[in-house]
Amino acid sequence: MSALFVPLIIAIDGPAAAGKGTLARRLAQHFGLPHLDTGLLYRAVARRVIDAGHSPTDAEAAAMAARTLRAEDIRRGDLRGPPVDEAASLVASVPAVRAALLAFQRDFARAGGAVLDGRDIGTVIFPEATAKLFVTASVAERGRRRWAELRARGVAADRDAITAEVQARDAADGARAAAPMVPAEDAMVLDTTELDAEAAFARALELVGAKLAALGRAP
Ligand code: C5P
Repeated sequence: MSALFVPLIIAIDGPAAAGKGTLARRLAQHFGLPHLDTGLLYRAVARRVIDAGHSPTDAEAAAMAARTLRAEDIRRGDLRGPPVDEAASLVASVPAVRAALLAFQRDFARAGGAVLDGRDIGTVIFPEATAKLFVTASVAERGRRRWAELRARGVAADRDAITAEVQARDAADGARAAAPMVPAEDAMVLDTTELDAEAAFARALELVGAKLAALGRAP
């Protein structure tokens, strides 16, 4: 690897159920990069706190769970769904939790580049990312998508309640003091309200491609 090699890092941030995960996976595949869903880190911390019998508002317990997080914790199959969704947002507001997860995220991409999706990738984890997308959609559409996702997994859910939960989580993620969810100044905003996964991917490729061209980088 040449000393001038700068790894390709694509940061994808945005609110819950905006389509970040699907988009990040497809971009990673397209560019031959590894993908990290950073929300899983916060979800795994929340799961450990709950399993240990602590409240997700217990900052000490959350910080301890984050410091001792193991790779297998983020591979568990029970990290998605209402109890963990809200708990993840609560533990994510604890600065010591975020600090404990920082090095893992940076190390993941430093050597060979990566696509990372989350809330603070372009603002805190990799402010120097090659390309930053802020992926969003209307609250109603995001609530519908999360509801459909739960139903597809056989989880009975009330659509209005799920939409309200998504909205409450966005409000908490956007208002917290530690690494709030905000678009980076140089992020390209992609609204997927009217786009299916295919169209969102095509648009994301255009945006990232234009950014790479502006930087004089080959994809
Ligand atoms: O993206 P996902 O819905 O899995 O994230 C779960 C929670 O983890 C979010 O609501 C947010 O509070 C937190 N999170 C975060 N920073 C990230 C990724 C997720 O604070 N980079």
